[in-house]
Amino acid sequence: MNCKDYQSDFLDLLLDPGAPANSAARGHIESCAECRQEFKSLEATFALLDDWKAPEPSAYFDQKLAVRLREEQALAPAGWFERLKSRLLFNTGRQFRPAMAGALALALVVGGGTFANVSGFLRSTPPTSATVQDLQLLDKNEQALQTMDQLLQDGTADDVANPPSS
Ligand SMILES: [Zn+2]
Repeated sequence: MNCKDYQSDFLDLLLDPGAPANSAARGHIESCAECRQEFKSLEATFALLDDWKAPEPSAYFDQKLAVRLREEQALAPAGWFERLKSRLLFNTGRQFRPAMAGALALALVVGGGTFANVSGFLRSTPPTSATVQDLQLLDKNEQALQTMDQLLQDGTADDVANPPSS
């Protein structure tokens, strides 16, 4: 056996130094300075690995995880269509998406659009922006002011037509 053969046994020797099968390698280390050096560096590497510790999670990791889990559990009763929709929107498996789109299209054909509120989903308008909401609010205010004017004018007209008797 040459040095290379012995060195291939070094890992076994390191993990189980007392095993009879490793006695040859152990003996060779005693007599070969080069292999002794090789074995020591391997030993040092493993010592480093033994010292390495996985980073500790933050102190509130468990609590945060528990809160998230409770939130998800609270959301769980959502209908199957909601879940299907979220899977479609957020699923990262790209190859899965066309299949889901196909299934939706099939549901649409089979149900004639009314099946499981698919038509509502497809026709649903995007959420109104803040600007649009402001404009709608202004419009309502305008209507309220006009109504107020109308009332005031009516009141004045009534006063003129039927002056309060003194
Ligand atoms: Zn050697």
